Amino acid sequence: MIEDSYRHRGMRRALVRTLAEKGIRNQQVLHAIQNVPRHVFFDQAFLEHAYQDKAFPIGEGQTISQPYTVAVQSELLDIKPGDRVLEIGTGSGYQCCILLELGAKVYTIEYVKSLHQQAKKMLNSMGYQANFIHGDGSRGFNAYAPYDKIIVTAGAPSVPEELIQQLAIPGKLVIPVGGTDRQKMLTIERLSESNITKKEHNYFSFVPLLGEQGWKKK
Ligand code: SAM
Repeated sequence: MIEDSYRHRGMRRALVRTLAEKGIRNQQVLHAIQNVPRHVFFDQAFLEHAYQDKAFPIGEGQTISQPYTVAVQSELLDIKPGDRVLEIGTGSGYQCCILLELGAKVYTIEYVKSLHQQAKKMLNSMGYQANFIHGDGSRGFNAYAPYDKIIVTAGAPSVPEELIQQLAIPGKLVIPVGGTDRQKMLTIERLSESNITKKEHNYFSFVPLLGEQGWKKK
């Protein structure tokens, strides 16, 4: 049974205020962050960390993204209810919950099997419905393409061409690209077969995207 107490909701309100102060303007995104209990992804002993604006280890060398990062990527995606969204890097499943709260139909792919299984179990127990896939998402997931939006939640060395090909027209990809220490957030919009635009945003620090189009494991 997942407990979501008055205290937890109060801690989330404080987090939402922090995110608004840091420049998050999209009210639906702030509302989604207010609605999703983040503490359920944390061990009881680490509850105090759940509503701080920071990333946190979730095992297997991976992290639940910083709430600010989740908010920025969600804001950039500009989700409309009913959008078909591919998330690459399920991790804990927290970002997936935010996308679902925004009304998206979500396909989420995770490379690490234990994380994929854990996230699927957790979201099901929370009453969220998404399509969970285990595998290498660095080449997207063609079987369910096209997607209105694609979000990559791990740092990529470059933009995989197949992700652009799997976008609907119009469609939008939000992806952090750069080195293994920091990456620039990019939005790539596919407006027609030949008209593809690219915008650059701030720097962030993600764990590396692995797999065929990602960083090779050492
Ligand atoms: N969105 C996640 C959340 O809300 O908890 C945070 C994800 S964590 C920063 C990045 C995730 O991407 C990790 O769980 C990692 O295993 C996964 N990942 C890395 N390379 C991947 C790939 N090629 N395909 C799918 N998932 C990948």
